[in-house]
Amino acid sequence: MAIDYEKKRAHMIQHDIIGRGIEDHRVIEAFAQIPRHYFVDEAARHLAYEDTPLRIRYDQTISQPFIVAYMTEALALTGTEKVLEIGTGSGYQTAILARCAGEVYTIERIEALLDEAKELLTSLGFENIHYHLGDGKMGLEASAPFDAVLVTASADDIPDALLEQLKDGGRLVMPVGDDAAQELVRVKRTDGAYIQEHLGGVRFVRLL
Ligand code: SAH
Repeated sequence: MAIDYEKKRAHMIQHDIIGRGIEDHRVIEAFAQIPRHYFVDEAARHLAYEDTPLRIRYDQTISQPFIVAYMTEALALTGTEKVLEIGTGSGYQTAILARCAGEVYTIERIEALLDEAKELLTSLGFENIHYHLGDGKMGLEASAPFDAVLVTASADDIPDALLEQLKDGGRLVMPVGDDAAQELVRVKRTDGAYIQEHLGGVRFVRLL
């Protein structure tokens, strides 16, 4: 029997997104509109709406739905922002951002992942996403500054270039820490100063 993905998606939103405290209506709408099962491998498709991260190709992972929602909500997007995302991966987080912001610039170091994400996101009708192959630690000088920066891979420190490319009033969210333990950190740039907040423990693949 065919899997009812719509039903599974609705359940995930009620149970794992709204049920765990996500309130931003843009984020909730984005979750309702984007078919997460398109972004995971065929073999794991039936698990696409479970409360868990999943393996994608090249040893990377697509984050747990709640974490995607939590990180996006932390950016406080209103629909007009220019956002930089590091680590395109499957493109799922990219799609959520593209629904919540104005323009999304996404950088991925693995060409095959970037190409596949681009193909899928284009087929879903997204026209406000710009795809870049390269090292996200350098940011994207040519398109800076950004209202928001989201890094979906972890490192010991936040790369300087990403802080520099943040607009005054802008927000950056990134998992910071070593291989074993990381904290989700939000940095707000205000009058030239960087104010850091800790948003809880997470576990992400490494920024290489
Ligand atoms: N947000 C993705 C999951 C990201 S997994 C999703 O929703 O599917 C982290 C991704 O960051 C991987 O695809 C990895 O290849 C990429 N990555 C790691 N280091 C990077 C770097 N320095 N520059 C760009 N991308 C990087």
